[in-house]
Amino acid sequence: MELEGKVALVTGASRGMGRAIALKLSSLGSKVAVNYVGIEADNKSDADSVVEAIIRQGGEAVSVEADVRDGNAVKAMVQQVIDKWGKIDILVNNAGITRDNLLLRMSDEAWDDVVNTNLRGAYLCTKFALRSMIRQGWGRIVNIASIAGLIGNVGQTNYAASKGGLIAFTKSVAREVGSRSITANAVAPGFIKTKMTEKLPEEIKKSILSMTLLQRFGEPEEVAELVAFLASDRASYITGQVIAIDGGVST
Ligand code: NAP
Repeated sequence: MELEGKVALVTGASRGMGRAIALKLSSLGSKVAVNYVGIEADNKSDADSVVEAIIRQGGEAVSVEADVRDGNAVKAMVQQVIDKWGKIDILVNNAGITRDNLLLRMSDEAWDDVVNTNLRGAYLCTKFALRSMIRQGWGRIVNIASIAGLIGNVGQTNYAASKGGLIAFTKSVAREVGSRSITANAVAPGFIKTKMTEKLPEEIKKSILSMTLLQRFGEPEEVAELVAFLASDRASYITGQVIAIDGGVST
C-alpha cells in the first residue's frame, strides 16, 4: 500500500487506460477522483462503475465531471476534490482523443479539438492541481503522451503535435517545480488495446504489429504499472523524463 494517504486525480478515467490507472492507484492505497466528461449520458455510468469497482476492492473513490478543455470546469473539479479530501498529490493527465486525417484533408476543427483536449486539457489540470502540491511540498504529475509525439505518425499531425507539445510541457513543468519535490514525467505508449485503437483498420493494426518487437499489442494494465511506479516514492529521483511503453516500436 505504498500510496496510502495519497489523493490522485485521473482525467478521462471512465474507460481504457484511465480506468486501469485509477484501479491500479487505488489498489496501492490512493484515494482516486475519477474524471469523466458529461457530454454523453453513458460516461457518468462508466465513471460510476469505475468508482464501484474501486469501492469493491476496498478503496475510496469519487467520480468528478469536467470537460478538460474548459478552464472553469477544471477549476471547479479540482476544488471538488480538495473540498472532499483536502489535497491532490497525484495528477494523471490521461484524457485524450484522436481525429485522424492526412494534413491536406485536416479540418481546423479536428486540429483544434485534438490540441485542446490533449494539450490545453493537461495545461489546465496541471495549473489548477499544482497549487495543492506546492503547498504540501510533494507531488507527482504523470502525462500520458504517445510514441506519435516522439516519432510522428501519418494521418496524425494534430495528435502527434499535441503529444509532442505535452512532452515539452512536461519537461518545462519539471524544471519549474523540481525544487518543491514535485516530479513531472510523461509516458509514451505505443498501441494499447482500448476503444481508441479498436476502430483502426486491420491493415494499420497489422503494420503496427510488424514493427512491434514483442509482437503483440499492449494492455491498459501494463501502462498503469508504469504510471503507478512514477507516482510512487520509488520514482523519487526521476523527473522531466519521457518513458516509452510500446513493445519496442520506437527502439
Ligand atoms: P479511450 O478509451 O478513448 O479513453 C479516453 C478517455 O479520455 C475517455 O474516458 C474519454 O471520455 C476521455 N476524454 C476525452 N475527451 C475528454 C475531455 N474533453 N474531458 C475529459 N475527458 C475526456 O482512449 P485510451 O486509449 O484509454 O487513451 C488514454 C490516453 O492514452 C489518451 O491520452 C491517448 O491519447 C493516450 N494513448 C493511447 C494509446 C492507445 O494505443 N490506446 C497510445 C498512446 C497514447 P469519453 O468517454 O467522454 O470519450
